[in-house]
Amino acid sequence: SSKYSPESFRSQFPLFEQRENRDLIYLDNAATTQRPAPVIDAIVDFYRHSNANTHRSSHRLARRATEMVEQTRQQAASFLNARSGREIVFCRGATEALNLLANSLCCGLRAGDEIVLSTIEHHANLVPWQMMAARYGLKLRYVPHTAGVPQFDRLGEVLGERTRIVSLTGGSNALGLRPDLASIASQLRDRELHWIVDGSQLAAHERVDVQALGCDFFVCSAHKFYGPTGVGLLYGRENLMAAMPPWQGGGEMIAEVGLYQSQYADLPHKFEAGTSPLGSLAGLGAALAFLQQQDREAMAAHEQAMLQWLHRELAQLPHLRLLSQPQHNLGIVAFAPVDAAPADLSLWLDGRDIAVRVGHHCAQPLIRASGEGATVRASVAGYTTWRDCEAFLDAVREFQRISEPQGSVKATQGEWQ
Ligand code: PMP
Repeated sequence: SSKYSPESFRSQFPLFEQRENRDLIYLDNAATTQRPAPVIDAIVDFYRHSNANTHRSSHRLARRATEMVEQTRQQAASFLNARSGREIVFCRGATEALNLLANSLCCGLRAGDEIVLSTIEHHANLVPWQMMAARYGLKLRYVPHTAGVPQFDRLGEVLGERTRIVSLTGGSNALGLRPDLASIASQLRDRELHWIVDGSQLAAHERVDVQALGCDFFVCSAHKFYGPTGVGLLYGRENLMAAMPPWQGGGEMIAEVGLYQSQYADLPHKFEAGTSPLGSLAGLGAALAFLQQQDREAMAAHEQAMLQWLHRELAQLPHLRLLSQPQHNLGIVAFAPVDAAPADLSLWLDGRDIAVRVGHHCAQPLIRASGEGATVRASVAGYTTWRDCEAFLDAVREFQRISEPQGSVKATQGEWQ
């Protein structure tokens, strides 16, 4: 990765050019990345020059807005390698995409049908299924796990006659753990069920090819891969989505409306009720074009090298429990200080302008199973530099020096993994 320059990548992000952010060490990328200039410009340009609601058949600006949305859809289809734009639905984010799937897929199920999840899912891939389970009498089953960490190679043990949906992460936002999706695919092969991949953390770090993956549905959020908030992607196989009922009703999603019933529009519009976040869609198009110009393999190699090093260094600190592992990891280091509150460490880092996340990371069942109340999470992106990593480690070491009780040495690493 010697060719790759995180500094030149970083120079494309105006936030880091602001005087107050010059020295910012931003390690909260799993929550949201920053946006590069082309993305910000596309949003501003849309509202400044071509704002109108979408409608093919009316005036010039409306036609232009419609073209922008459909062009972004084509870019999204090629970003995920979908077969066509009809397989791409724009949502408010991964959360809305998962709620759409839960509502649309579960209303056809019968009491006693089963949905398989894992203990490391984000709340967005837990709560909607719990709501549907309560509404339709469905049963939730979990991939076998040890202290909250799923053993995805044992997925077969929870699949049965009544399994209808398997909805699993493509990468954990709390641990970075990236399941072997090829192995999941082979365990699900030839079964009559729907496989959903929550690719929220995956899309920023790896090229996604939904056809090669073989999943039925894939969801992700633009703001995790340098795009705007308020817009996410739902990929679904065309034949499946064509047969699914719409979730939300309203304008834009209909063909004909009567007083007592209506006919719905074709895919993908059937699932896009109401006015879309047009500025965000313009920004998404710019983010996809921006990503396409990057050497993503080199960027991933740089991120992986930093991740390996951070894990190696943190593993040597005695008063710290490392929860993440460097292998099969999408850019996250998660740990908890042994003798201090995670929130105190995060405040200490904030005091040095180092931004990390502390808490349960919207994965409460997992964090609870780890025996911790909260963890500290540092997550890297293409603009993270080696200097950022060194400064972060120095600050953690310094915190340990000032907070550790004299003479007590506790090494409790490892037993949880
Ligand atoms: N799933 C995962 C794995 C995530 O990391 C996130 C965002 N933290 C979501 C789902 C939800 O994404 P959003 O809040 O953008 O809808």
